[in-house]
Amino acid sequence: MSDRWDAVVVGAGPAGAATALLLARAGAEVLLLDRARFPRHKPCSEYLSPGTTAILKRLGGGVLDAVERASHAKVYGMKVVAPDGAAMSGRFAGAYSYALPRATFDTILVRAAERAGAVVREGVTVADLVWDGAAVAGVVTRSGNGQRVTCHARIVVGADGLRSVVARRLGLVRSSAPRRLAFTAHVGDVGGVDGLGELHVGDLGYVGLGPVGGGVTTVALVLPLRAVRASGRDYRGGTGFCAELERFPGLAGRFDPRRLVRDVLVTGPFAQWSRQAAADGVLLVGDAADFFDPFTGQGIYAALRGAELAAECLIPGLVSGIPGGRGPLPATALAPYLRARRRAFTGKWLLERLIGVGVGSPALTNRVVRRLARRPDLADLLVGATGNIVPARRVLAPSLLAQLLW
Ligand SMILES: Cc1cc2nc3c(=O)[nH]c(=O)nc-3n(C[C@H](O)[C@H](O)[C@H](O)COP(=O)(O)OP(=O)(O)OC[C@H]3O[C@@H](n4cnc5c(N)ncnc54)[C@H](O)[C@@H]3O)c2cc1C
Repeated sequence: MSDRWDAVVVGAGPAGAATALLLARAGAEVLLLDRARFPRHKPCSEYLSPGTTAILKRLGGGVLDAVERASHAKVYGMKVVAPDGAAMSGRFAGAYSYALPRATFDTILVRAAERAGAVVREGVTVADLVWDGAAVAGVVTRSGNGQRVTCHARIVVGADGLRSVVARRLGLVRSSAPRRLAFTAHVGDVGGVDGLGELHVGDLGYVGLGPVGGGVTTVALVLPLRAVRASGRDYRGGTGFCAELERFPGLAGRFDPRRLVRDVLVTGPFAQWSRQAAADGVLLVGDAADFFDPFTGQGIYAALRGAELAAECLIPGLVSGIPGGRGPLPATALAPYLRARRRAFTGKWLLERLIGVGVGSPALTNRVVRRLARRPDLADLLVGATGNIVPARRVLAPSLLAQLLW
């Protein structure tokens, strides 16, 4: 069996659903595929950085109203606790972030893409790419009953997350230290949770937690891959998971393993990216293009902003016709997407790498957190930059970086 589309979008997480929504609304024939069926869970701390709200508004289609109507929490800033117990907190000046289960949020986006005109197929796994010479010209899918379908497209959008099969088939995937894994859970009745997200850094790894509405707290335990292997412990059971949380001074006594309201999900290792986010007939967006580390909580923002940049670049070629006629869009037509990504994300990439590597050093984390505890102005600025409401370059100025250390 075979069918033909302007765009096939692989993966219906935030990156894929938003790209499909924007392309379909502009008049393109779009097929959106996901191996999961929605609602589905996704290992995540489930906080939408405050900069995300403006994108949800721009997406339209009732997305922001649906988030507002869903059970959610509001987060007004971040608290960071260092390995030596020092603590700092920063506020999102005049803003807040929504926090809600990914099962709910991602389903809102998928249904909005469908309403915009995208055809959505769930429970369908993309197994391979279809080639036309050196250009990608479609995908081969496999569904639960073993049926294989070839879907031809002028553009394949790889939005299939951290383990992107699209990026892997292109041979573009690279990885680096720190190789961390995450275990995420939903826990009820966690003590001391207020309107701030919390990040607790330990000698080995860190924990991020925050409310997601309905009295539930999402908890992400992030550990180096080598530490998980060396320990031989099973963090996927409630008891092992909660026992590990007790090692963090600010978390001891706050979790009851009997109050886990969902299985512990595992994902990683991270620090993986694609050497090039576009090639003939194919473009990568969201985690499929790059995902370094979850500490700064910017992944959903990057997925949605990346979708906007991808759609801006693709719409003229798909809807108004031209580059490549009816064939795959050539890489030259996708170059504006690469340039736009660099402009939009270079500061974010640097910031998340500095922070992601920095939290691997307990001495450095102790020093910076103590410094920020004495300088609430700097703490607000840094938290605003990770929340995508302050340009990252303001924090990356050498004079400011020096103030964080001395
Ligand atoms: C522990 C942890 C905590 C995090 N916390 C936050 C946070 O608080 N805030 C934040 O903004 N970001 C956070 N992130 C990052 C965020 O989860 C990701 O950046 C975001 O989900 C990226 O969206 P995406 O659409 O690119 O990929 P995903 O959300 O991963 O979606 C990819 C989709 O592709 C589908 N798929 C995969 N392979 C195939 C295939 N072969 N065929 C068909 N479908 C396929 C999957 O089923 C999935 O639905 C966190 C990440 C982790 C690991």
